[in-house]
Amino acid sequence: MSFSDPPKTPLLGLSLPELAQAIAPLTRERFRAAQLTRWMTERRAAGFDAMTDLPVALRAALDERFVVGLPEVEARTPAEDGAEKLLFRLADGVKVEAVYIPAPRKRASAGERVTVCVSSQAGCAVNCAFCVTGRIGAGRNLTAGEILGQYLVVAREKGFGPRAANVVFMGMGEPLLNLPNVSRALDLLEVEVSPRRTTLSTAGVVPGIRELAKRERRPNLAVSLTAADEELRTRLMPINARWSVAELLEALAEWPLEPGRRITFEVVLVAGVNDTPEAARALARLVKRVPSKVNLIPLNESAEWLPGLTRPSAERVDAFGRLLAASGVDVTVRWSKGLGAAAACGQLKGREAPARAPRPPAPFVRS
Ligand code: SF4
Repeated sequence: MSFSDPPKTPLLGLSLPELAQAIAPLTRERFRAAQLTRWMTERRAAGFDAMTDLPVALRAALDERFVVGLPEVEARTPAEDGAEKLLFRLADGVKVEAVYIPAPRKRASAGERVTVCVSSQAGCAVNCAFCVTGRIGAGRNLTAGEILGQYLVVAREKGFGPRAANVVFMGMGEPLLNLPNVSRALDLLEVEVSPRRTTLSTAGVVPGIRELAKRERRPNLAVSLTAADEELRTRLMPINARWSVAELLEALAEWPLEPGRRITFEVVLVAGVNDTPEAARALARLVKRVPSKVNLIPLNESAEWLPGLTRPSAERVDAFGRLLAASGVDVTVRWSKGLGAAAACGQLKGREAPARAPRPPAPFVRS
């Protein structure tokens, strides 16, 4: 391709009817669209050359106009626990991250799945005080193909097939601020990953939760709550000024939970800020209003990105957890080891240096 050629159209992210329409000028054989889809998803093909049961002439014609559209891996950061962060470069040069987390060693033999954490935006406008992505600022929405592509590249590199992974929308961005593309990505992912194995994490975009609730097949819902007190939450998560804890809980109470499913509340604990016994008691009262469990995530510190915020001591986290448990809350502490820290959006660590200076933190005031 020369620099004057128009960019080729990515096929990843198109539904089957859309794909059939896109390739209709190249072939009259209607089954070719399904064949292409299988190559791009189940068989993880990165280019048309690999699609050996397609006629050579069709492969050449496809190659002239289209690309599969998988994102390019620019860097890999492995961690000791077997997790790996992949930094992707998208077609326009924008960079996003995904994380591969292996199955827990103890349970791998019991068929436990690996987890792939994907990004939905190339940055985030929400600006939570504890989040590195928030410091980068808003970035563009990813397309459904770019979201699906992160999962497929990880699957290809790690060699796992369909139905072998959990997918969590907990990477860069607020998925519910990119709902049309995220919704399409959820549809396309269904052939690979059951909605029961998919989790979407939101900072609390109430209209997005209500919209997502209308889907026939819904992912699991995780909500970054972090504090039950309105004022404290607004300081840690400015989005609370737009959609309050009260409004959020109202929407969650109406979320159509299937039997056996619960809402996950994520609580990033920051030393001296939201790790107090009062905060634990307020949280316990709140979360018990809906079928739920709580993940406590001690802050991933970053002197460069999150100055002034520190991780609470293990004793403090333990005491917080015990207070919740004593109130009847199902609580788990997720100490981040390596990159397995992808337990809440914005908690990915060791990010590449950004192309621009970080924006100021949220209007956070230490209590
Ligand atoms: S925690 Fe999530 S919603 Fe908040 S700024 Fe970070 S990426 Fe955005």
